[in-house]
Amino acid sequence: MAFAITQSCCADASCVAACPVNCIHPTPDEPDFTSTDMLFVDPRACIDCGACADACPVDAVHPVERLTGPLAGYAEVNAAYYDDRPVAESVSPLFHEWGPPSFGPGTPAGAEPLDVAVVGTGPAGMYAARELLLHSPSRVTLIDRMATPGGLVRYGVAPDHPATRRIAESFAHMHAHPRVRMRLGVEARPDELSARHDAVVWAVGASASRELGVPGEELPGSVDADTVVGWYNGRPDVPADAVEPASRVVVVGTGNVAIDIARVLTADPDDLAGTPIAPHALVALRSGAARSGVPREVVLLGRRGPETVAATAPELRELLGRAAVPVVVDDHDPRIAPSLDGPGAGLLRDAARTPVDWSAPPAGPRVVFRFHSAPDRIDGVGRVRSVRTVGVDIPAGLVVRAVGHRGRPVPGLPFDDARGVIPHDAGRVAGRPGHYVVGWIKRGASGGIGANRRCAAETVGSLLDDAAAGRLPARRRPWSRWRTAVRG
Ligand SMILES: Cc1cc2nc3c(=O)[nH]c(=O)nc-3n(C[C@H](O)[C@H](O)[C@H](O)COP(=O)(O)OP(=O)(O)OC[C@H]3O[C@@H](n4cnc5c(N)ncnc54)[C@H](O)[C@@H]3O)c2cc1C
Ligand code: SF4
Ligand code: SF4
Repeated sequence: MAFAITQSCCADASCVAACPVNCIHPTPDEPDFTSTDMLFVDPRACIDCGACADACPVDAVHPVERLTGPLAGYAEVNAAYYDDRPVAESVSPLFHEWGPPSFGPGTPAGAEPLDVAVVGTGPAGMYAARELLLHSPSRVTLIDRMATPGGLVRYGVAPDHPATRRIAESFAHMHAHPRVRMRLGVEARPDELSARHDAVVWAVGASASRELGVPGEELPGSVDADTVVGWYNGRPDVPADAVEPASRVVVVGTGNVAIDIARVLTADPDDLAGTPIAPHALVALRSGAARSGVPREVVLLGRRGPETVAATAPELRELLGRAAVPVVVDDHDPRIAPSLDGPGAGLLRDAARTPVDWSAPPAGPRVVFRFHSAPDRIDGVGRVRSVRTVGVDIPAGLVVRAVGHRGRPVPGLPFDDARGVIPHDAGRVAGRPGHYVVGWIKRGASGGIGANRRCAAETVGSLLDDAAAGRLPARRRPWSRWRTAVRG
């Protein structure tokens, strides 16, 4: 037997160092690591010790004999990663090969502790705080505008992904660290913070949704993905009536967030009842299904063909694996069949293909992918009624734009408006000594939770190097008076 890594893996690589036989790949120093959605256990080398399962913060690793239901296929998924890797290459020596010693960043012995403000308590802020606490005697002030910490782990990750949300527990250990203090419900400002801290790390995420730029986008019933996700996760600034589920919902986009929304809106409300879904969302999903008489149909519009689907394999595998909710590709365009039969089609080649008659009522519950179909406009009088795309009107009561996120400017810091990020050099904010960036506001809105770990290591490395080299600006006020540095 062996262990296998499953759907909730966020590729943070915690298990790699735990494995005594080096049979989890790709490792962070292997080329595939930057592009992989998840890591894989080599069943030929696994000695079944379970160390990886203990190390995993999101409960993604299980013995293969216990993989049932939606996780059943993951033994094969793990093994398949090693198919084209010869045994001699993949079955490693019993212990890791030791490279030259490498010493992480740190502060010189005897140096005064740094006082660092970390703005944002999402994954990037928490990984940055952890790096600072591990590698230096720094004192860390964690600041967030929300009263509840966690960023997108709390208000983004779907409620039916409880294993992924569990990473919040490992971050929460740091909230009580003796060198950490928490300031929640406050909006941070650069000059005030830098006056009282040696350095400020901005981990403010990318909270603005990209727009479609089509007429009708502003109609009631047309919302962005951020609103829907905040609605079903109970984010305090999203009103309970911000989203009205309809019997047909059009989601523009085919990325992971679009898939999350399709999955939650088509789920049986009884299955969602045991999750942390916001009570008002559950009530609306139940009553919407009862009112319309049919379960919801969600249509995902992709601008290009099936080979360009942005969602990761684990998300698609989960969507395709639900017996009660079929997934259909609308076979409306002669380019679709060759794409689905071609090498780049991925998992969608297993979905049913049929031309969809959009004049008929929704056949839900189901999820329909419609490719080569950028929306031309959203129509309706006083409320969304349909979406016009390549010559067809798709009737819909709710339209969700899920075409990506971008960062918002932080007053007083430079901003790259084209990319929606704060410009930086290895995490150092351009032209603002003592200010650093990490996470989605640094890299742009892509990558799962684990990607922020490496990103934080780079940023904190730069910060500690600057501290050791005397490149941090002198702060103007003592740390003890920090309370006035942030405003509610
Ligand atoms: C809907 C959705 C679902 C996702 N699901 C998954 C998943 O299942 N698995 C996975 O691996 N990845 C998932 N991701 C990706 C993952 O959430 C991101 O990689 C990660 O959250 C980015 O971390 P961050 O810390 O940069 O940003 P965020 O998590 O957005 O954190 C930013 C924090 O900064 C705070 N903030 C912003 N501005 C200020 C200010 N001026 N003052 C004080 N505080 C401020 C915010 O309140 C927030 O708490 C998902 C992303 C989205 C959008
Ligand atoms: S069970 Fe043990 S040997 Fe197998 S992958 Fe996990 S840590 Fe490695
Ligand atoms: S989430 Fe991290 S620890 Fe868990 S399986 Fe994935 S890479 Fe390993």
